[in-house]
Amino acid sequence: STNDSKSTSKKKVVAVVGGGLVGNLNACYFAKRGFQVEVFESREDIRQAKIVKGRSINLVLSHRGRQALKHVGMEDTIISKGIPMHSRMIHALNGTQSPIPYGKKGQYILSIDRANLNKELLSAAETYPNINLNFAHKLLNWSTETGAMTFEKTEDIQADLIVGCDGAFSAIRKQFLRQSRFNYSQTYIPHGYLEITMPPINGEFAMKPDYLHIWPRNTFMMIALPNLDKTFNCTLFMPFEEFEKVTTGDKVIEFFQKYFPDAIPLIGAEALKRDFFRLPAQAMVSVKCSSYHFGDKCVLMGDAAHAMVPFYGQGMNAGFEDCLVLNEIMDQLNEDFSAVLPEYTRVRVPDGQAIADLAMYNYVEMREHVNSKWFLFRKYVDNFLHIIMPRTIIPLYTMVTFTRTRYHKVVKHWHWQDKVINQGLLFCAAVSVAGGSYLLVRYPPSMPNIPIEQLWSRLQALKSPF
Ligand code: FAD
Repeated sequence: STNDSKSTSKKKVVAVVGGGLVGNLNACYFAKRGFQVEVFESREDIRQAKIVKGRSINLVLSHRGRQALKHVGMEDTIISKGIPMHSRMIHALNGTQSPIPYGKKGQYILSIDRANLNKELLSAAETYPNINLNFAHKLLNWSTETGAMTFEKTEDIQADLIVGCDGAFSAIRKQFLRQSRFNYSQTYIPHGYLEITMPPINGEFAMKPDYLHIWPRNTFMMIALPNLDKTFNCTLFMPFEEFEKVTTGDKVIEFFQKYFPDAIPLIGAEALKRDFFRLPAQAMVSVKCSSYHFGDKCVLMGDAAHAMVPFYGQGMNAGFEDCLVLNEIMDQLNEDFSAVLPEYTRVRVPDGQAIADLAMYNYVEMREHVNSKWFLFRKYVDNFLHIIMPRTIIPLYTMVTFTRTRYHKVVKHWHWQDKVINQGLLFCAAVSVAGGSYLLVRYPPSMPNIPIEQLWSRLQALKSPF
């Protein structure tokens, strides 16, 4: 095998609970360090599953996730199956499309097939002789006293460390909730999401593939990401209340006519009516908690620690980065769990909370601001300043997506530069008003002689809508 095997000297057992995206990557990290790794996944092996879900749900992979994959030698395999997206493509109601670049020239995010990514991660984990994949192992509970894990079917199992990667509704986290001074909050947003496939047209992508397409419509929006099979995966985000109003196929068409008319011929009216009711709209939850660890026995990572709304495309990226951060701390503190876990909480909690907050902020930005002239103007100003002062002014999206700047530092820097730029723009405005006034005084135009009261009433009249 190509993996570092320091395993002979160390026999500590690490149990990774949850063999999803973060769990499998994490397993590779621990195995690379030589631990004996047991992965417990409640589902069957998705690679053997007979019923493959009809459509592929895709994800945005960016710098943080890529760096984490790179550490275990998986970056190239994964990006070779991704589709680069350099810009958003904003679809206006009248059908016009306008691109807004994600970053500088050459910077892009990748559209990745979630199921394939999960399969690749499972196969990568399997190449390590010191990883055991235990499918159909649903964890029910674990004991904070003994560390023993209870599963639905098998007998209790012990490990030296339990890593909870079991997602937003983590069963591992349940025990944390009973501890004193454990903070926890969970928020459902009023929106749900629904997925619709846009098929190829004459064997080609129905829209330009190297974009993340967005139809912002204030209280709701639709996005579309390209797949390798030349389909697009459209996701409609809308308040549940609105979903409930669309009860029949005809109403779906009526709704799309009103808000996404350009998408109807691309998806096809019949397919649209069918896909819309294939599954009920799904809920989205944001979870924040602290601490991320319990003693030297257990640590929460990925969505189990910080599930977020999907509007920054960072959930998985943050979860992958978790693996990298823990790994860095393991290096610093010599793999001593009693020191590593508290340090991990100290370092990672502010970042997990910051990205959950930013994702919630982007929930508003994507729906509303991309339609506003001021927002677009500020985006151009930010990008321009970034070009002339690349180290000082960095657009928020760039810091989140194309760097590994700690998320909480990103938020701080963003607030700072927002203040500076707004003050700068105010200053420029003041200078031009002052300059203009000076010119007016210095070179007064010939004005009709109007008394001041009359001038005032004329100005008032200008405000009237007619
Ligand atoms: P999960 O992927 O949820 O995996 C948890 C695993 O644990 C599962 O395999 C589950 O079967 C298993 N499990 C659960 N309970 C138990 C148990 N009791 N015992 C044993 N096993 C158990 N992120 C991005 O970075 N980019 C995106 O573009 C993006 N888009 C998204 C779009 C949508 C609509 C949604 C909902 C999320 C999106 N995300 C995105 C977020 C991303 O999906 C998650 O952050 C990511 O899946 C988290 O991985 P995880 O391994 O922590 O959890």
